[in-house]
Amino acid sequence: MPLVSMKEMLLQAKREQYAVGQFNVNGLSWVHAILDAAQQEEAPVIVAASDRLIDFLGGYRTVAAMVNVLLEEKNIQVPVALHLDHGKTVENCLRAIDAGFSSVMFDGSHGPIEDNIRDTKKVTAYAASRGVSVEAEVGTVGGMEDGLIGGIQYADLNECIRIVEETGIDALAAALGSVHGKYAGEPKLGFTEMEAISRAVGIPLVLHGASGIPLHQLKRAIELGHAKININTECVTAWSLQLRKTLAENLEITEPRLILTPAREAIRETVRTKIRQFGSSGKAASLQNK
Ligand SMILES: [Zn+2]
Repeated sequence: MPLVSMKEMLLQAKREQYAVGQFNVNGLSWVHAILDAAQQEEAPVIVAASDRLIDFLGGYRTVAAMVNVLLEEKNIQVPVALHLDHGKTVENCLRAIDAGFSSVMFDGSHGPIEDNIRDTKKVTAYAASRGVSVEAEVGTVGGMEDGLIGGIQYADLNECIRIVEETGIDALAAALGSVHGKYAGEPKLGFTEMEAISRAVGIPLVLHGASGIPLHQLKRAIELGHAKININTECVTAWSLQLRKTLAENLEITEPRLILTPAREAIRETVRTKIRQFGSSGKAASLQNK
C-alpha cells in the first residue's frame, strides 16, 4: 500500500493507549530492516529521515523513492508514513513534501515561540491540502539536536497550547527531560508536566530521544498521551555492534552482503522489540479497516 500520513495512526494509538514507533534511516539497509520488522509485527510504522542527514542520504527525492519502491517490491501491507525528522527550515519541509514525504516535523524550538508558531503555520498550511501530517516541537530535547549539543529545557504549557491551537499541527513534541543519544544515569521525565500538557492540548504527543528510557517510563509516557516514540540510537548501536562483531570474527570476509546482512538483521530485531514494547504489534489491521 502507498505511504500514508501519520495522522490516523497516531489518533488511533492515542485512543487505544499504545505508541507507533518512529525509526530513523541511515541508508537502504535501514529501510529494509524497518519495513520487514513492521510487516512481521503487523504494525503501523513511521520511517524517518533526519533533515541533518538528507545530503548524506542523497536528497529528499532519493529517500522518498527508496521507501516508495521498497514498499512495492516487498509488498508491504501495513500502514507506513515517511516522516522528515527535525526539519530545519520551512523551505526544507516544503521540499520534503514535494518529494513525496507523507509527514514532516518542523523544528522551530530553538527560536522564540512567536517565530516557531509563524513558521509552523506556513508548514501546516502547505501540508493540509496535500494530506501530509505535521509535528512541531516546544522546549529543548537534551543532547544532540540538529547537530548541536544542548541542555534540557522543559516545554512551557502555554506555548504548547498556543502552537497547537494556532497552527493545527497533528502531533506535538513537548520536551520534558528526554535526551537524544545516550543517557548519563536514569532519565528523568517530567510526568506531572506531561499530564498537564497532554490534557490541555488533546493531540498526540511525541517522545524524542526514547532510546535508553526504561520500559516502565515509556509505558507511563504512553498512558499520558504519547502516541509516537522516536528511536534512533538503539538501532545504530545494534547495527554498529553487529558490524564490528562480523568483521572481527571473519577476518577474511570481503563480500558486502555477508558483512551487512547480520547488521541489517540486528536493526530489524531492535525495531521488532521496540514495536512490541510500544504495544503497536498487530495494530495494522484495525487501522486499515477504518
Ligand atoms: Zn528528536
